[in-house]
Amino acid sequence: MIQPRVGSLTAHGSEYVSLSAVSGLVAAKILVVDDDPRNLFAVEEMLRSPGIEIVLAESGEAALRHVLRDDFAVILLDVRMPRIDGYEVATMIRGRPRSSRMPIIFLTAYNKDELHVFRGYSAGAVDYVLKPIEPLILKSKVDVFVDLYRKTEEIRRKGEDERRLLVENLQVRGEKLQAERELRRALERQEAILSSLPVVVTSRGVERPFPALFVSDNVERLTGFPAARFTEDAEFGLSRIHPEDRDRVCRELAAAVENGTYACEYRWQCADGGYRSFLDQGVLSPEEAGHSREIFGTMFDVTERRQLEERLLHASKLEAIGRLTGGIAHDFNNMLSVVIGNLDLLQNSLDGNEKASRRTRLAIEGAQRCADLTNRLLTFSRRQSLQTSVLDLRDLVPGMMELLQRTLGEHIEVRFDADQDLWPVEVDPNQLEAALVNLAVNARDAMPDGGSLTVGMANRGAAEQDGAPEPRGEYVVIAVTDTGVGMAPEVKQRVFEPFFTTKESGKGTGLGLSMVYGFVRQSEGHIEIDSAVDEGTTVRILLPRSEKAERSAGSVRALSPAPRRGNGETILVVEDDDKVRQVTVSALGTLGYEVIEAETGDEALSVLRDGSGIDLVLSDVKMPGATSGIDLARRVGAEWPWIKVLLTSGYIEAEADVEQFEVIFKPYRVTELAERMHELLESRTAPALAEPRIVRIA
Ligand code: ADP
Ligand code: MG
Repeated sequence: MIQPRVGSLTAHGSEYVSLSAVSGLVAAKILVVDDDPRNLFAVEEMLRSPGIEIVLAESGEAALRHVLRDDFAVILLDVRMPRIDGYEVATMIRGRPRSSRMPIIFLTAYNKDELHVFRGYSAGAVDYVLKPIEPLILKSKVDVFVDLYRKTEEIRRKGEDERRLLVENLQVRGEKLQAERELRRALERQEAILSSLPVVVTSRGVERPFPALFVSDNVERLTGFPAARFTEDAEFGLSRIHPEDRDRVCRELAAAVENGTYACEYRWQCADGGYRSFLDQGVLSPEEAGHSREIFGTMFDVTERRQLEERLLHASKLEAIGRLTGGIAHDFNNMLSVVIGNLDLLQNSLDGNEKASRRTRLAIEGAQRCADLTNRLLTFSRRQSLQTSVLDLRDLVPGMMELLQRTLGEHIEVRFDADQDLWPVEVDPNQLEAALVNLAVNARDAMPDGGSLTVGMANRGAAEQDGAPEPRGEYVVIAVTDTGVGMAPEVKQRVFEPFFTTKESGKGTGLGLSMVYGFVRQSEGHIEIDSAVDEGTTVRILLPRSEKAERSAGSVRALSPAPRRGNGETILVVEDDDKVRQVTVSALGTLGYEVIEAETGDEALSVLRDGSGIDLVLSDVKMPGATSGIDLARRVGAEWPWIKVLLTSGYIEAEADVEQFEVIFKPYRVTELAERMHELLESRTAPALAEPRIVRIA
């Protein structure tokens, strides 16, 4: 029964070795334990074969040491050995979990009958081989266990391989899932970015009309048209480009095919009919086998930026014109002072000569109109000195109603519509009135066949203006609306420019809206115009809400018809312009004042130091030398507080600190000068009344 197995085992054995070489199996190990080295060598000789490693141990202790280190297919164990015998060694091998299942074959010289068979089996033996050992028997018994060991090992390794494959498989599957998830997430992110940015991503064909092949969905948010409109109709994208821009865009896109890139800006008509500006730039797609080339691009909405740029450009243009006109107007004012002053003096000396008197009056009127124009130019260039007070605009309504109705005539109806709780504003009421009259005159001219003019006043809070880039903050809005002819966009663009008019010569000066613009800007406000041809016009003046408490508007000084005369008081006239000084000196002389002259502030100071009984200093603001009019006024206030100071100027730089002083603006009428001097000299006589005394009670 055993014989054939041995033969087949040998055959299997060799096959096994080659198999193990292929699959990397380790050879089986056999441990032989005997205290007699001759037995050990004999057994080794009997078992030697390929794929088998024989480990020899001469004692139980040596055997146990091997068992600790190695796995064995079978252990051949001599029973009788000094110190620890085979049974004890077997018991200890069995006792260790790692070696508990190693098959043990006892080698013994006893014959069966005297053998403690049961002791052997209970110690863990699986078989016995009697000495002297019959090689064939030993080999066939050992081979059974080697075979078993190898099969078991093979199964174990196979199992391990399978487990490893399974793990690898799971890992690959997991990685694939993860990759898919990441891809999906990347796509979602891309989509979210595409749809939330104000940028449309496109892909177009390379030939006119450059049909859209892909357009990101957010195009609908920017243009009002769904993406499908672009991709379904090849002509659609091109057809809505502003006709003036279309050819240029086509040239750019065609050039992209040559150069690989393009960039252009154009106006595109959106679903609401309005044009928006898009910056469109991109590249030619890379060449790929099986794909025709495309133009990849991004469209970026730059409408707001363009509008802002245009507004800035417009503002800086007006600023430049303002500087120019301001300079001219200043010189004009000085000359007009001379003209008006001399005419005033001439007028006084023409007693009885009616003809000459009438001519002089006409000349004064003409010069006065010139002064008026000059003043408007100064207002436009924001060099007018504003006499502001904090007020509730509604207080001005009754007076304004009357003024406007008078300006507009009977065939135009005037309506007022003011909110109840208007915020206070800090404004020059006279200038505001002049601005409203200018707007009313324009409205009248725009409504030759009659119509209506509505003046609305309302608060506009910071929250009600989102979207508009400017202005932010709290304003009181005065809206002047007419039902007139309206303006074309190209007119609306230019109305604030001085001398821009569409009216025939003699009818318009082109200074009305310039004045309004300058005044509003100098008051730190803003001005807006809504107008379209045949749809009327609304001009909105935005004045900033004032944080200061309201004061009643200073009433406009009424001029007395005859000039107030002086009482021989001494006036120091400080003026660098000879002609202006001369006319002033003459005027003061005729008014009954004693006059001392000085050409500069420094000269005036030395006159004052000489102490010649001066009552009032009338000084120009801008003069050559180290001492300006303002410096002079300060020095007088500090050193000679009883002397009054009246400053005079063609215009006051917005930054000049004149508010604390008395100022009269050139060109002035003699009556006006007389009135101001009289007032100042009067106030000088009652200093105790001017300042209330504070009584402290302990
Ligand atoms: P002027 O009235 O002397 O022409 P303005 O500066 O007041 O100068 O106005 C400039 C131009 O603006 C006018 O010539 C007119 O074309 C236009 N304009 C101003 N206001 C209106 C309005 N209410 N309706 C129509 N056009 C207006
Ligand atoms: Mg006008």
